[in-house]
This record gives sequence, C-alpha cells and structure tokens, in this order.
Amino acid sequence: MENKAFLYAAEAPSEAQLKRFQEFLQNKYKTPVTVSFVEDSTMQAGFKLEYADEVFNWTPEGRFRQFTDMLYDIRDKYTETEDPKQALALLKRSIEDFDVTAVPEEEGKVRTVGDGIVVVDGLATVEYGEIVVFESGVKGMVQDLRKGEIGVVLFGEDEDIQENSRVRRTKKTAGIPVGEGFIGRVVDALGNPIDGKGEIVSSDYRPIETPAPGIIDRQPVCEPMDTGLLAIDSMFPIGRGQRELIIGDRQTGKTTIATDTILNQRDNGVICVYVAIGQKASSIAHLVETLKKNDAMKYTIVVNASASDPAPLQYIAPYAGTALGEYFMHQGRDVLIIYDDLSKHAIAYRTLSLLLERSPGREAYPGDVFYLHSRLLERSAHLSAEKGGGSMTALPIVETQAGDVSAYIPTNIISITDGQIFLESDLFFAGQRPAVNVGLSVSRVGGAAQTKAMKKASGGVRLDLAQYREMEVFTQFSSDLDDATKQQLAYGQGLMRLLRQHQSHPLSMQEQVVTLVAATAHVMQDIPVDEILAFREGLLAYFAEHEAALCSAIADTGSLTDENKSRIIEAARTYLSIYEEQRTKDGE
Ligand code: ATP
Ligand code: MG
Repeated sequence: MENKAFLYAAEAPSEAQLKRFQEFLQNKYKTPVTVSFVEDSTMQAGFKLEYADEVFNWTPEGRFRQFTDMLYDIRDKYTETEDPKQALALLKRSIEDFDVTAVPEEEGKVRTVGDGIVVVDGLATVEYGEIVVFESGVKGMVQDLRKGEIGVVLFGEDEDIQENSRVRRTKKTAGIPVGEGFIGRVVDALGNPIDGKGEIVSSDYRPIETPAPGIIDRQPVCEPMDTGLLAIDSMFPIGRGQRELIIGDRQTGKTTIATDTILNQRDNGVICVYVAIGQKASSIAHLVETLKKNDAMKYTIVVNASASDPAPLQYIAPYAGTALGEYFMHQGRDVLIIYDDLSKHAIAYRTLSLLLERSPGREAYPGDVFYLHSRLLERSAHLSAEKGGGSMTALPIVETQAGDVSAYIPTNIISITDGQIFLESDLFFAGQRPAVNVGLSVSRVGGAAQTKAMKKASGGVRLDLAQYREMEVFTQFSSDLDDATKQQLAYGQGLMRLLRQHQSHPLSMQEQVVTLVAATAHVMQDIPVDEILAFREGLLAYFAEHEAALCSAIADTGSLTDENKSRIIEAARTYLSIYEEQRTKDGE
C-alpha cells in the first residue's frame, strides 16, 4: 500500500522541494511516502506536513506553539522537584537547540473527566463544534477552546473514559445522516434509530448547524399551514415558513396542539418533524402511539432526546431535527417542525455551560442563550422559487411558570417568533380546550397566508369575542339585563363554546368555514350552550351528506362567493329546523 502525506501551504512548492519532503518522511518512517500538495490560502507563511496522524507544523504559529509548550513542559517538570539552577541551564540549552518536530497534533489526552464534560490536553488545531472520539468509542463535541486545552461535552456515558486516555479528531462538525429513510422513524439526537426497527438507510449527511437562508433566498409567507383547530385557524392563522410559539403553563394542552397539527397534515404532502427535548420516555411512546393510530407516522419523523439522555444530546436535538427538516425543505417540500420544548432545551444548555465553567447571567443562563434560539428559529423559512420554493414552519413550545410570560426564556422566544398561541390554565380547567387565550395570542404574518374563504368567514369573530369578553366582565355582577345584552352574551358564549375541539379531531378548512358562517349569521343563537358542540357535529355531517358540492367548491377554489355564503346560511337554517324538530320529538 502506498503511504500518503499532505503538504498544506499557500503556494505550491517546486518539484525539488516536494522531493525533499518525500525523502525527509522516507528517512523518518522508513517506508516510501508520496507527498501531495493541498493549497490552503488561509496560511500566511510556512507549511504544514501531515502524515498519518502526525503533523509537522512549520508555520509561525505552529513553531511558536511548540516552543512555548516546550518551555511550559520544562517549567512543570523541574520547578518543584529539581534544582532550579539545573532547570535554568536546561531551559537555556533547550531554547538554543529548539527545532520543530513532528507531533501527533490530531490526538489529545484526557486530563479530567466528570459530569459528562472532558477536558482534553493537546488537539491544538481542533475547531469549535468538531466531533472527537474517545478510546472507548464514545463521541463528544468540542464546546470550549482554551489555551492548551479544550472542553468537550460527551454524547454518551463518561464511565469508560479514563485520565490520560487518547482522543482523536474527526475533522467533522457535529452532523446527522438525513434522507427519505427517516420518515416514519424515531431517532435519537445523533440520528440513530431507537424504535427497534433496524438500520436507517441515509442518503446524505448534514451538519446540525448551518447558517439560516438569507433574505434574498426567501419569499413572503403566502400559503396556509392549517392546524385543523378552529380556534387557531380562524383567528391566528399560521403560514408555511412562519414561526409560531405555543406558550403556556404545564398541562395546558401545548403538545396536543402540536400533535393535532401533525394529524391535520395527512394527505397534503407536508413532512412533519417532532423534536422531543427532556421529556419522559413514556410520554414520547404515548405520542408516537397516537401518531401511529391516526396514520400520521408515515409522514413524520420523531427526534427524541429524553430527560434521561445527557444534556449535550438534549442540547443538539433541535438542531439535528432542523437539519433533517432542511433536507426536505431544500428539495422544495414543505416541512412542519415542532420543538417540544425550548424551556427544557435552555435548561440543558445552562447545565452544559455551567459545567464548562462559563459565567452565569440572568436566571443563571449563560449570556448567549438568546443566540441559541435565534439561530435555531431563523432556519425556518419559505424559500424563493429559485431555491425550490420549499418551506419549514416551526412551532416551538415554551413552558411558563404560573403564566409568567415576562421570564427570561419566554420573552426571548416571543421576540424571535412571528406570534404566539397563549394557552391558559384557567381556561383549560374550565373545559375550554384548546385553551387559547384569544386576547393575548397573535399571529403576525399568517394573515397573508389565510385562504380567502377563511378570511371572509372569520372576519368578525375576533371582534365579536373581544366585545363579548368586555361585556362579560361588565355584566358579571348585574342581575337585570335587557334582552339585547342577554342575546349578545349568549352569542358570545356560543362562539366560545364552538371554539372547543376534542383532541385528534381536526376540522378541514371548509368545515371551519361552514361553522363560522353559520355561527356569525346567528343560526345557533337559540341553541343551549351545552348542545352547541353536538349541533356543530350534526351540522357538519349534514353538509357532508347534502351539500358536498358546495363544500368541495370552497375546498377547491379556496374562496367563498357571496352566493355560496348565502347558501351555507340557508342550508344551516334547514338543518336547524331538522335539529329542533328532532329535539322536540326526543323531548316528548
Ligand atoms: P406538559 O406541560 O406536561 O408537556 P402539555 O401542556 O403539553 O403538558 P398536553 O400533554 O398536550 O399538555 O395535554 C394535557 C392533557 O390534556 C392530556 O392528557 C391531553 O389528553 C388533554 N388534552 C389536551 N388538549 C385536549 C383537548 N382539546 N381535548 C381534550 N383533552 C385534551
Ligand atoms: Mg407537552
């Protein structure tokens, strides 16, 4: 076998020079070696000769580093134990005799290990974010570059790593295999399957961190990403490429909104990526089961870094999920990505930073925690037609404590996203589910993406609800209300009730349009609040049976003509009379 060495320099050497290098290596290693030249314009002077895992670094920096390393070595060895006079003489001699030697630059030694953090000596040329491999086979990522040492976070157990064991560079930044094969699978943050269904055939490898698409490569959000939830699609529409935050206390239905949105993407070609960060393994198993039951796993990838995984894996999971999503986005496809949740992600990063001895800032988070999430969410985009027109819509989730949206992490992420769906415990416990707070939620860019039909049908709903809330507060303690006020209160109550929706029951756009048109035309005015949901169900079944043409006209064109609107109201009234007839019959 032929042995290969590489010569890195800014300019090509002459034939004679190359030959001298070759001879030098042959003499040193006693085997024939061929040297090939690699141009490296970043080098200002000197050259680097690389053979096997040894590097002969003849650049000014390399020589300087070796020289200072040598001095420190002598100091460490002699100052305490030996005679200082002798040490001085040795220092002097060593300086005179100093010559650059080949050192294994691509290999380092473990100095200390603990809490999933390893401090490594050597590896002077390693890069930030690079993956290194330990003797035990465990991988780690370089997260700290200091003088003479580096800090590595581990992706596995630290038990098998001993002091002075060797560490190898891989010259690869952290990345994840990607490809069609991942669809339908559950993987860990490094892309390894964890669903017991065998190996995944990947078609590419992407770094987990890539720069976000620039302004020129993007186009405005213009296509809807329907959640199938009336409370969201009607008032806080989300567009493809948008980033909409789902925020609320624990157990307020945050995850359910995200999974319902996944279920609603059935048959429309959207690839869904669900990234679970720091959750219990059992919750994820339950979630995957729900997706499977609803036939949603066939277009979904689940990336799971659970609470029992090391903090570094929880830290990289959302970036890995994003890399998987980007693979599809750059093929011109539409992707929906869910980060559940970024509060736990921030905590994982805080743990990691504190272990790396970075100074804590507000709420003990490191100073760059804002950048952590902004660089993640910036990668969601609607790409321009030249770039294939693909999109990635992000639904990050954040957990608040007692509804406090002004805490550090929530305010950060609110400022990065294009709006938020604010969920409230009080509403949730009162049975108003999804527990969307209509007053505090917003969607900043999605309006442009809403279908014309939806826009027309939902036009007045937000205002009506705002009026209702105000009136509700105002009339809370008064007993004698006039009829007009009573009517308006009943209407508002009915609307609020209509926004309730059971989980895993997404409504299509035309179903939502029919519901809203009928409701805002006060067709349901006299239905008791407790019966409203049953009425909605009956109404939609009636439309599916008797007005299929009307429904598909709305679905196909995405618009609602005045004529169709009147037809909906008319048909809804017809159904109302059937419903009331049925009710009186049942009552008898
Ligand atoms: P956590 O903070 O623990 O992550 P979460 O905010 O993600 O909670 P979910 O897990 O989505 O909340 O929901 C909490 C519970 O409420 C679940 O048992 C879920 O089944 C139920 N739930 C959520 N939304 C609805 C809904 N629309 N209809 C009925 N039940 C719901
Ligand atoms: Mg949850």
